[in-house]
Amino acid sequence: FLSFFCAFLTFLFAFLLPLFFFHLPTDVMMVTPWLAPIVWNGTFDIDILNAQFHKRDVHIGLTVFALKKYTVFLENFIETAEKYFMVGHKVHYYVFTDRPQDIPSLSLAEGRTLDVTEVTSYKRWQDVTMRRMQIISENCLQRFIFEVDYLVCADVDMIFSDHVGVEILSDVFAAIHPGFFQANRKKFTNERRPRSHGFIPKDEGDYYYTGLASFCHNAMMADKVKKWRYFLYYKPTKVLSPEYVWNNYYGSSVYVPSKRFVHVEKDYVRIRSD
Ligand code: UDP
Ligand code: MN
Repeated sequence: FLSFFCAFLTFLFAFLLPLFFFHLPTDVMMVTPWLAPIVWNGTFDIDILNAQFHKRDVHIGLTVFALKKYTVFLENFIETAEKYFMVGHKVHYYVFTDRPQDIPSLSLAEGRTLDVTEVTSYKRWQDVTMRRMQIISENCLQRFIFEVDYLVCADVDMIFSDHVGVEILSDVFAAIHPGFFQANRKKFTNERRPRSHGFIPKDEGDYYYTGLASFCHNAMMADKVKKWRYFLYYKPTKVLSPEYVWNNYYGSSVYVPSKRFVHVEKDYVRIRSD
């Protein structure tokens, strides 16, 4: 009996307790089939990474679009980014808007700057969201490559609620959609109509990428930035777990102990109306 009991205790301590206390995902992928790391909580040492990136004095750009009624999201977005996004590093916010007069003046920590660029808007929200990639690629060669080493592109209807740091940076990276990280690729809702710009063939599409994506300027060839299908044909060198783009619609998940960057709930009809 005693040896049975000891074996049971060993099992408990070695395998079960760590699961409860450390919440390390054990049955999610940590590396993609093309050997890009998937960034999960607990897989990196931020102090080592920070030291490495400080040595290189990296400058990180964060692009965000706030057109029409979406300007209401900007203040919370920037304020939470000041608390959680790349703290201690050089950060350039690039805000694109059609309503520069509605952009509040925000105080930023040392080493961080914000500039506002006026852009024209479109009537249809689909055109607004599609036009973002075009504006980003136009600005790549004109400004970004001179001003930043990495560029992060985010939706504005989001808030940072936990650390998002240099662990996300890589040549080309993207976050997995929170509803899809365990899903089979047949369930992906990627556009399937062949004539659409976002078309992804049925048996392709490795993960379902979303709301937060980025490029290091070495990899940032303006003509390749055009579409989000980019990630299908040019595999990301790092993939971010859903911690990095969470939606409370999915509630909570044992796999996602920290929700680092979270969708703000919005009234779609009202916010997208003129
Ligand atoms: N956007 C905007 N004004 C609009 C529609 C969209 O500024 O009228 C920008 C904004 O940055 C937003 C992004 O496009 O976060 C994507 O649109 P949305 O967040 O509505 O898409 P969802 O996340 O709901 O798929
Ligand atoms: Mn959004």
